[in-house]
Amino acid sequence: MSNKTGKLVILSAPSGSGKTTIMKRILHDLPQLEFSISATSRAPRGEEKHGTDYYFFSKDEFRKAIEQDMFAEWEEVYSGTYYGTLKSEMERIWSSGKSIIFDIDVKGGINLKNIFGKQALSIFIMPPSIEELEKRLVGRGTDSAEAIACRISKATVEIEDAKNFDVIVVNDNLEVAVNQVEKAIKDFLV
Ligand code: 5GP
Repeated sequence: MSNKTGKLVILSAPSGSGKTTIMKRILHDLPQLEFSISATSRAPRGEEKHGTDYYFFSKDEFRKAIEQDMFAEWEEVYSGTYYGTLKSEMERIWSSGKSIIFDIDVKGGINLKNIFGKQALSIFIMPPSIEELEKRLVGRGTDSAEAIACRISKATVEIEDAKNFDVIVVNDNLEVAVNQVEKAIKDFLV
């Protein structure tokens, strides 16, 4: 990529760990960061908009973009559904003078860290326990029992990868977790 000088912050977590809430707080509190809008082959949900939440690609468009080497990283996060970070998106943010923050899955987070090394800070948001995670997913009321079981088994595998991240923050108490994440980012960006 043409600009190797920019910094990036990677936020990864098992589903239900509170990552989205923490991300919103960070984007509000740290204006020097801009959210990297990923490309995906899944359909928009609810109010999601192309170019705001994701760049929505058809499967064919996504595969063409892979062939044309347009992604810094990409993953088939769920079977048949692709997600990826466009190099052009990273360059757009860096050229505006900001650092980039990513919300990507655990594998993608590790891949980006391996590519960008010291340019990147990788943060893993850890649920307090699998039992608590299950309670939150049930409480959220958005998933079927099968979907919850699937997310729990994925989370168990993902937690084993936490050791590959620069920083692990346990989200037991939201305020404490936000403070810890923001402190780690501020120290990294100076
Ligand atoms: P959702 O479909 O719920 O928006 O996202 C599903 C998963 O895909 C989440 O874990 C999210 O972090 C991950 N994801 C979103 N964008 C990317 C990306 O660009 N690359 C990778 N590897 N994962 C992504």
